[in-house]
Amino acid sequence: MRSQDSDALPISIRGVTKTYGAVHALDDVSLEVKSGEFITLLGPSGSGKTTLLMVIAGFTRPDCGSLKFGEREVIRTPPHLRDLGMTFQSYALFPHMSVAGNVAYPLKLRKLQKAEIAERVEKALETVQLGGYGDRRITQLSGGQKQRVALARSIVFEPRILLMDEPLSALDKKLRDQMQIELRHLHEKLGMTTVYVTHDQREALTMSDRIAVVNKGRIMQLASPRELYERPANRFVADFIGDSTFLPVERSGEQVSYGGMPLKFVQAPPDTPTLALMVRPERIVLSSEGPREGANNFAATAVEVVYQGDSYLLHARLDDGTLIALRGGVRGASLSALPNVGDKVTLTLAPEDTVLIDGSEA
Ligand code: ADP
Ligand code: MG
Repeated sequence: MRSQDSDALPISIRGVTKTYGAVHALDDVSLEVKSGEFITLLGPSGSGKTTLLMVIAGFTRPDCGSLKFGEREVIRTPPHLRDLGMTFQSYALFPHMSVAGNVAYPLKLRKLQKAEIAERVEKALETVQLGGYGDRRITQLSGGQKQRVALARSIVFEPRILLMDEPLSALDKKLRDQMQIELRHLHEKLGMTTVYVTHDQREALTMSDRIAVVNKGRIMQLASPRELYERPANRFVADFIGDSTFLPVERSGEQVSYGGMPLKFVQAPPDTPTLALMVRPERIVLSSEGPREGANNFAATAVEVVYQGDSYLLHARLDDGTLIALRGGVRGASLSALPNVGDKVTLTLAPEDTVLIDGSEA
């Protein structure tokens, strides 16, 4: 449909605050979305994701701040003049209208000619793989199909910006996984600037060019999925994305130690008052030959070993009492090498996997 990415628009959000009584739904939020980029707002329920999307859409007027689409300041522009497509968790389709009738709705509002409407509707339906479904009733469709009709309706007028608020959360897991990939392909094809909202970290990692992690009305970190996962800015982000154990460490000058043991690391730690060592279950390794030179070694006791088909999960207690999780592969001989509960084990962490982050609780 949209052939040139140059038609997409960057979004610039500066210093946006929105309060409801004592609640800071948005607290001085700034965010630059690049032209054609797929950005996800990821955060727990109540963190301000929907409020930010509603500010972009124009349904919520912030207390202060600026919002630009390209060069144009739009903070005072009413929603219907912002020219953006939107889909929500609830499909908000008109049940008494046909599929085509629903998709045609935004075009009728824009008073397009009948022939052009028909042509565009069919094209949009084909884009979401519902070609030929125009005459069906909404009630005859499955959840995934309804979601695709809602999507077709939001892209049929070729918006330069697409906003989606948890559009897949009503679908079952299998369909959700499939739709995530479809939405991603659709974005690649149409290239509009997209702001997507979810509370599902895996969904965010799967779909996004960049992710803004939102907590208590603030953006905690804006980064690529990989950077976010491997270099989280703080404990909140590390905790929200993936599993991790945090170990307290002490810094003295250049040296960082855990329990008196100086740590080997590659990436310089952040310059924050406190530090924590973030340990991801798939990065820490069970060493069968004891402590390894060149790595960080942790003495522990196996507490629980769980076989999970594609991998195993080992819970081990460090000498300071911290419970640590380790995920390993189950190929070949490694299964028989798994420890028994109560065994003394050595866990090792390579210097490049030794990630030190801001230790304060966000
Ligand atoms: P999310 O979409 O991340 O779940 P929301 O943006 O819906 O979060 O809400 C952020 C905060 O603002 C919550 O504390 C919520 O209760 C509050 N809030 C949102 N909309 C309103 C409203 N219309 N009136 C009062 N409080 C609101
Ligand atoms: Mg919401």
